[in-house]
This record gives sequence, C-alpha cells and structure tokens, in this order.
Amino acid sequence: MAEVSDLKAAAALLSWDQQTYMPSGGAAARAEQIATLEKLAHGRFVSEEVDSWLEDAASETRALSYDSDDASLVRLTRRDYDKARSIPPSLVEELARRTSLGMEVWVKARGRSDFGLFRSTLQTLVDLQRELADCLGYRERRYDALLDQYEPGMRSAELDRLFADLKGGLVPLVQDISQKLESVQDEVLRQSFPIEKQTTFGLEMAQEMGFDFTGGRQDQSVHPFCTSFSNRDVRITTRFDERFLPSALFGTLHETGHALYEQGVSPALERTPLSSGTSLGIHESQSRLWENLVGRSRGFWKFAYPRLQRTFPRQLAGCSPEAFYRAINRVEPSLIRVEADEVTYNLHIMLRYELEAQLVEDSLPVADLPEAWNGKMRDYLGITPPNDALGVLQDVHWSHGLFGYFPTYSLGNLISVQLYDRARREVPSIPEDIERGEFSPLLSWLRESVHRHGRKFMPAELVHRVTGEELRAEPFVSYLKAKYGEIYS
Ligand code: ZN
Repeated sequence: MAEVSDLKAAAALLSWDQQTYMPSGGAAARAEQIATLEKLAHGRFVSEEVDSWLEDAASETRALSYDSDDASLVRLTRRDYDKARSIPPSLVEELARRTSLGMEVWVKARGRSDFGLFRSTLQTLVDLQRELADCLGYRERRYDALLDQYEPGMRSAELDRLFADLKGGLVPLVQDISQKLESVQDEVLRQSFPIEKQTTFGLEMAQEMGFDFTGGRQDQSVHPFCTSFSNRDVRITTRFDERFLPSALFGTLHETGHALYEQGVSPALERTPLSSGTSLGIHESQSRLWENLVGRSRGFWKFAYPRLQRTFPRQLAGCSPEAFYRAINRVEPSLIRVEADEVTYNLHIMLRYELEAQLVEDSLPVADLPEAWNGKMRDYLGITPPNDALGVLQDVHWSHGLFGYFPTYSLGNLISVQLYDRARREVPSIPEDIERGEFSPLLSWLRESVHRHGRKFMPAELVHRVTGEELRAEPFVSYLKAKYGEIYS
C-alpha cells in the first residue's frame, strides 16, 4: 500500500506541475508519464496477491476495535480493492481515452457555444458511464454506483430526500431576495486591486487560519485546486482577477479549508489508502466552512477588515465594515455555477444532479439536454441562459467523465453547517475567538473531530459520530434564512 501511495503521489506531483509551471509543449509527454505511473499504481493494487494479503490481514485484525487504525485500514482497503477489481482493464482504458478526447471536443463546443458539436461525444461518455455503473454494481438505482465513487455510501434515494427539503427552503428564499436585489451593492469589490497585494493578504489570512507553510505552498493555476503528496506537503492554487477582489480572496480561503484537512490527517496513516479526506463531500464541508461560515461572517471581518483596509487604503477608504460585509454576501440569481452566491449555489447543483441521473438512467435523451437545462434554470432561478456556453456547456465535469460528482458540492455545504453548529455547541467561545483572529480553537476541534481520522470512516458515519445526527438540510436552510433574512430585511 505504501508503494501504491508513493506512485500515486508522484503522479499527483506531475499533475500539479502540469497545472502550474509546465510549458504547454510538455502536455503530450506529461500525459504519458502520468498514465504510466497510474497504470503501475493500479496494477500493483489490483494484483491477486493483494487479495490474499487482505484476507490474512482481516483475520489478524478481527479482534481489534472498529476504530483502530489497523482494522480501519483493512476495512477500507478491502472496499477500494473490490471496487477497483470490478472494472475490467479494457473499460478503464476506454474511459481514460474517451474522456481526454471528450475534453477537447467540449472545449471546442463551448468556444462556439454549440451543444450540437458535443452531442455525440456526450452520448458516448454517457454510455460508458452506464457500463461503468453496471460493473461497479448497485442495489436500487444505476446512478448510485457512480455517486458512490465520490461519496461512499450515499444513495440517490437519500439525495432526493435532502434535495427536496433544500429546494423547499431555497426556492422561496431566492424569490423573496429577488424582489430586493438592489438593496445590496458590491461596486466596492469591483475596482483595481493589485495582484501582488491580493497575494500577500490571502497568504496572511491562510496562515492566520492555521495553514502551515513549512508543509505547504500556494501557486497560481487556471482552476484553483488543492493536492497533497504527504501531510507535510500540501499544495493549493488560486487565480486572480485584478478587478474583482472576491475571486482570489475567497478562493484562497476555500482551498485553505481543503489544505487544513489534508495537513490534519494523522501522521500514523501516512502512505496508506487512509491518508486523505474521507469523501469529496466531507472535503468540501471543510473548504466551505472556512470560506463561508468563517470567511463571509461579520465576526471574521471584525478582525480582518482593518487589515484589508490597510492593504487597500484607497479602494476601501469610504467603505464601512458593514457595507463590506453586505457586499461580499450579495445574492443574485446568475447563470454560472462557479460564480454563484451561497443562497443560489445549491440550486445549480440540484439541476445538474437531476439531469445527470436522468441521463444515465435513460429517461432523458442526450439531444433534449439543453432544453431540459434551460427549463430548470427558469424554474429554480427564474432566468434563461441566452446560449449553450452560458448554459449546458459551462462545466467541465461531464466531458471529463465525472458523473455523480456534482452532488458532493451541496453535501459539503449541508455538512459544513452541521459541523459548525456542533463545534460552537462544544466550544461556545468560537465566534468571539474568530472576532479576535483566534482560529485555533475551531481548528483544534476540527482536527480532533474530523481531520485526524483521514478516510477511516464512511462520510455518513463520520457525520453521525461527530454531530450525533443524520445528514440533514434543515440546519443549512436555517442558517441561510437567518443570515440573509437579516441582510435583505
Ligand atoms: Zn472545493
């Protein structure tokens, strides 16, 4: 497992380099290098002997407690192993080839804003996803097999329940706010903010929150991400928009949340399959917690705003802390998911989830996708995309073969609030600590409750262990209603 982990880390490092510093001419050779490392890692992992090792290890660890590192290592590795073995190598190869081709076609189709150019490619990708789901296996719905790859144990029946509650709370809230859009303005964020100063301020905030830069760094990339090669080497990236302050600022806080999770995994789990976050949903709960629940709160800016004003004295001269707080929390139903605010964001996700589930379960023909997309945009957000580029073609995920991935963004939002509520109940000083720029009480609680476990527990298990509750939409909806009810009267 240590060797497999090393090979994967090496591939991840090559991929990090590709997205940060590699000259574009290196792309073809780099793709081969990464593919070779991944093939080696996969081959080492799915070999026959691992099966018998796992069997032996299972009997050796039977007497250990469920929570122990060793018992968890055997349990989770067995789960990974059975999944990996269920996919024939020919399908793995075909998926890899079709998705890299799919990306190219998607880039072209999006550039020309023409879904027709992407249709047959998407059909092929959907067919392959069906085949993949059937290999992985499922009990109720085919979509569940795909979802399980990113959020182990989650099923669409539960998502439907969560999303129905979420939709019931969000759609009326968005409609109410839509009557009052003008009452919150954000011009102050749309001035010239020199990138050098944005960088310094973002890094300072990341460090204040607890990012250990002796075991990590930040660079620039087109799409921000976080990756790690060990918990003493965690990399985040960001992108800058000189004329819109929130892009890099909240992007950095978001990726810092991911990085804190990776840096907090127990060193005892290093070089094992457990040495990472437990699922995309739990990972996103950490990034959203720091970005939104902390970073877009009034308390955080009580501490941070004077420092931001010192960084940008001219731009923020006439802006009160309260006006700044309102500006960074402005709500507006918009076309693009990645630019969406906290309130409307999950409606973008629900729309994608509903459509991709219908695609893989054959109830929506690929040709009808743009129309279905636009219909849901009208129902949920009250706006109609003027073209495919601003509608159905905006996200990279489907062209990359990522079906079942989108819901993890919303799960992360829901989980972030449940965890934060719990943290504040157990450590009531957290909100005042944040106002003073004291983040360690919150971080310590997260380390102890979530981070150190790595992948030892399934996501639902972890949420239950920490909060004593099932995953629910209600705490998130209450949080939004309280916060935005006040901002928008
Ligand atoms: Zn994220």
